[in-house]
Amino acid sequence: MRIDLHCHSTASDGTDSPADLVAAAAAAGLGALAITDHDTTAGWAEAAAALPPGLRLVRGAELTCVAEDGRGGTCTIHLLAYLFDPQAQAVVDEYARTRAERRTRLRTMAGRMAADGYPVDPDALLADLPPDASAGRPHLAQALVRAGVVESVTEAFTKLLHGRNGYYVPSRKTPVRDAIAMVRAAGGVTVLAHGFAHRRGPVITAEVLVDLVGGGLDGVEIDHPDHDPDARARLRAIAAEHDLIVTGSSDYHGTNKTVRLGAETTDPGMLAAIVDRATGADLLVGA
Ligand code: AMP
Ligand code: FE
Ligand code: FE
Ligand code: ZN
Repeated sequence: MRIDLHCHSTASDGTDSPADLVAAAAAAGLGALAITDHDTTAGWAEAAAALPPGLRLVRGAELTCVAEDGRGGTCTIHLLAYLFDPQAQAVVDEYARTRAERRTRLRTMAGRMAADGYPVDPDALLADLPPDASAGRPHLAQALVRAGVVESVTEAFTKLLHGRNGYYVPSRKTPVRDAIAMVRAAGGVTVLAHGFAHRRGPVITAEVLVDLVGGGLDGVEIDHPDHDPDARARLRAIAAEHDLIVTGSSDYHGTNKTVRLGAETTDPGMLAAIVDRATGADLLVGA
């Protein structure tokens, strides 16, 4: 069975609706798929309702967090959270706050660009988002593509949204130790997403990672498109030493990125370990 445990829908910055995402997963021959939108569970219901026969759905989210980087500073990290209770009050409150701040932040970024003469309308941008969806830079990138400013989402990031000019506004981030504890209390399992993907920006040291394991982190995503062979090898060694769950996944975003569903996959035994450890939400299997 081929399993992809990290995928985005239109509930955050992917381009497939949750229903289209599960249909695409079945069409790609996957046996299990996790829906892991940034900071929201808004896509769960639609994905569950549309689940094709035989496809297993792991309900999850990718939480935007901040951690000490192990060099005296901090860095942004992403935490995959699986099978937690989406009604747990701490989770509901934290991510309602996060999503509200993400909207304000995207409006500010779009407003700065509009003030500089770029043809983007902050109000229209936000009005187009589905309810409870998590707003992110890819939405602004798509607006720039539609307006003909750039040809692709990737070009929008390289030229305008990278964070080294005046347009970028940081997003709200949860301290990672709090996020791990919150997910655990909600019956879920946590896996560090693309932890050593240094091409994306600063990453935590191995020491910090081991420390997070002490704080309840269950696993690490190893096979990810942004991990080079060296990053994978170092993560594999840490995972073996500390007996961690290890996963592989595409981080599919539809047409916002070029990677395909199932481009990287997770061993079925590892999915079983996640399900075993979780008490917050059941794994769903399509009729
Ligand atoms: P945000 O959370 O709003 O800061 O946006 C970050 C999101 O932008 C990530 O989750 C990726 O989906 C996307 N992203 C980051 N860098 C790039 C890039 N170079 N090309 C395309 N998408 C990107
Ligand atoms: Fe994303
Ligand atoms: Fe991520
Ligand atoms: Zn992701």
